[in-house]
Amino acid sequence: MPEAKADLPARRERRSRSRKRELFCPAHPKQRIEGNGRKYFLHLLTPEELKARGMPHKKAQLVINAYPVLVLSNEWLEELFCPECGMSRWCHVIKHDRVLHTVRWAPRELWQQVAHVEPLVPNPSVSQFTRQAARRTDGRRLFEP
Ligand SMILES: [Zn+2]
Repeated sequence: MPEAKADLPARRERRSRSRKRELFCPAHPKQRIEGNGRKYFLHLLTPEELKARGMPHKKAQLVINAYPVLVLSNEWLEELFCPECGMSRWCHVIKHDRVLHTVRWAPRELWQQVAHVEPLVPNPSVSQFTRQAARRTDGRRLFEP
């Protein structure tokens, strides 16, 4: 009997190698960084924020009129640990596909666009509006660019 099954373990190993998401430290581009998976998704409140993400001016205006608070499904804030930095930092993560992500240090103003989290710099008008709008579930929807 020929040993036809000899290559099975190797094949199984190759298949089981999961295509896990890849996040790299902004300061150490070769260093993978990890978090506990807790994501704070971003809310958009102005047409300018949509335009910055490639939406035409008129459409952005219409979308914001229809949905005062948009929840982005592919951008969030997440606390990530880098062994090279030796610490955890809050990062702004943009998901491009299941594996590919862009990671940068989260700028302070992004906290104003995250629901359920008090911004580090108090901005009553924005946070108050976010809380009110977030309660209105019919005014929200997921925005898939
Ligand atoms: Zn680092």
